[in-house]
Amino acid sequence: MKFSVNDKGYYGNFGGAYIPEMLYPNVEELRENYLEIIASTDFNNEFEHLLKTYVGRPTPLYYAERLSQKYKTKIYLKREDLCHTGAHKVNNTIGQILLARRLGKSKIIAETGAGQHGVATATVCALMGMECVVYMGEIDMARQKPNVERMKILGAKVRPATSGSKTLKDATNEAMRHWINNPTDTHYIIGSVVGPHPYPDMVARFQSVISTEMKDQLQEVEGRNSPDHIIACVGGGSNAAGAFYHFLQDESVNLIAAEAAGLGISSGKSAATTTLGKSGVLHGSKTILMQTEDGQVVEPYSISAGLDYPGIGPIHAHLFESGRAEFFGITDEEAMIAGVELSKLEGIIPAVETAHALAVFGNRQFSENEVVVVNLSGRGDKDLETYIKWGNY
Ligand SMILES: *Cc1c(COP(=O)(O)O)cnc(C)c1O
Repeated sequence: MKFSVNDKGYYGNFGGAYIPEMLYPNVEELRENYLEIIASTDFNNEFEHLLKTYVGRPTPLYYAERLSQKYKTKIYLKREDLCHTGAHKVNNTIGQILLARRLGKSKIIAETGAGQHGVATATVCALMGMECVVYMGEIDMARQKPNVERMKILGAKVRPATSGSKTLKDATNEAMRHWINNPTDTHYIIGSVVGPHPYPDMVARFQSVISTEMKDQLQEVEGRNSPDHIIACVGGGSNAAGAFYHFLQDESVNLIAAEAAGLGISSGKSAATTTLGKSGVLHGSKTILMQTEDGQVVEPYSISAGLDYPGIGPIHAHLFESGRAEFFGITDEEAMIAGVELSKLEGIIPAVETAHALAVFGNRQFSENEVVVVNLSGRGDKDLETYIKWGNY
């Protein structure tokens, strides 16, 4: 079975480009050019240089001794939390802005939910001196004020989406509309392995630097270039796709995805897409999403803003359907306990998204000499208020 994208943009039954006709020229321009640009020496030199000198790559692969003792297995943490801006998202925004420049674009737009992708986009626009407009739901702007201010300090314009539920879905619609009206000078930076082909594949390629480094680092410390298990949290799925990327075809590596089960799978307040969802079209691709009987998207819930998404990227829908990856639904409570546990055992306060991946250890056994890599997608600074509200530490 093949787990990379085919030339029509599908992963098994999922993917494709389900877009309004008006958007077709923009997406087609990207599809025709992205592989050639990404493969060019000039692009690679600049991408690698910025990842090294600006983002701070390679990120360490850290052996977590006290966590390993507790769970009686060998646990390594891939430290994406040490990237500039505090998470893996910047790997993708750097890649896309370099690609946008090579397509002759001078302006950038993005959508953002909690603001993390908006901040990563505003950051690279400042770096490149490019105009940046970020669409954000009006309600999200009120909920995530510090990120709105961060984007403004970085020079971006933040435009409120005032229709519908005034959240991520509406911000995405506004960004699409903007792109349709400005096709020649503007590139739309999508923040995860979602959206119409070629976005999921393009974003996965930019994030694949995570597993490229992991292979070299494991070779050095373990004398082999693959682990037994890789665990990552899945919102849209970009950090997981990057951590899995070079191991997708190697079935000796077990892939484990942690989704947000919120207050519980059957509570009605959850974002456990694979358990609760059905096949359908979301944000331009065929995937698995949470929907009602008549196909209305169900409003998701999670304590972590980054996992609060009603779908998953098409690559993960395929990994789920084919059985290639194991999926766990992790509740808010399990995640918060795991986040506090990592803080106390290793001196690392993880993002609440990342804490969902760590909570897999409470749900599944690993044997003593197995090597388990957790992709530590982000740091917890942004979540201090969530930890304080939770209180059990
Ligand atoms: C945004 C975010 C996620 C979720 O996004 P993916 O595309 O699923 O990786 C996970 N962890 C952190 C720290 C994030 O900021």
